[in-house]
Amino acid sequence: MEQTKQYEVLQWASLFLENHQREPKVAEILLQHYLNISRSKFYTMMRDPIAEDVIKLFKSAIKQHATSGIPVQHLIGYEMFYGREFAVNKHVLIPRPETEELVQHVIQTAGQHQRPLTIVDVGTGSGIIAITLALELVHATVYATDISTTALEVAQKNAEQLQANVTFLEGDFLQPLQKENIQADIVVSNPPYIARAEEALLADTVKNFDPELALFAEDNGLAAYRLIIEQSKKVAKRHAVLAFEIGDAQSEAVRSLIKETYPTSNVHTIKDINKKDRIIYAQL
Ligand code: GLN
Repeated sequence: MEQTKQYEVLQWASLFLENHQREPKVAEILLQHYLNISRSKFYTMMRDPIAEDVIKLFKSAIKQHATSGIPVQHLIGYEMFYGREFAVNKHVLIPRPETEELVQHVIQTAGQHQRPLTIVDVGTGSGIIAITLALELVHATVYATDISTTALEVAQKNAEQLQANVTFLEGDFLQPLQKENIQADIVVSNPPYIARAEEALLADTVKNFDPELALFAEDNGLAAYRLIIEQSKKVAKRHAVLAFEIGDAQSEAVRSLIKETYPTSNVHTIKDINKKDRIIYAQL
């Protein structure tokens, strides 16, 4: 019997996924993972036969994803962020490309400073923001907080794996820094910002698999910003920067929250590559 070729398995999977209203691209990611080869090698092997045990694993993962919506990142155990691999599981939010833009802006801002900076990533989840900043800004002192012990375990593992020097502190948003009397030049956060009322609109891959704690906030999605801004009064240095990822309809609301606390601050909104309001940047 002739062995099944890579492109044939892929064709089957893409069709199967489409029939289940899933992204066909997931097929390539999963197969490359089970073959344990690089992306470029993968594309040169389209006509090569695939071992039966690999096909079995692959098909079972495809079916699982198609029927339950389990994210491909949970199946393979990682997601790329800013060119690096971060371990993820059900205890942390899966990194999103929008957050790369937030990190990019912080790197730019930090690059303009002459002196070493102290940065805190609030609600670090998998640690993507803090770890990337620590690796890209070698002179910065980076802290990261999270209220979730299981999330911090993931973040700590990622920091070790990527050899990033980050101090992780457990607690509610900026509370651990308040407690230890640490002050920061940059407070960065991608906090939970989805309103409860929007839960029904979310894809099953998101609402059934990303941790609730990472997604939702009370007060129409604004509760985290409100608290972080309030706590920042003790933590932010005199001309500190607040950099937040926001929901695309939250720009005005978050701007007012910042202005209430810091009337003389310079606040602006930055759009993401999809032209949606995504980042709020405040120079205090
Ligand atoms: N800071 C993490 C991220 O950007 C976690 C964010 C969150 O859980 N809301 O992915």
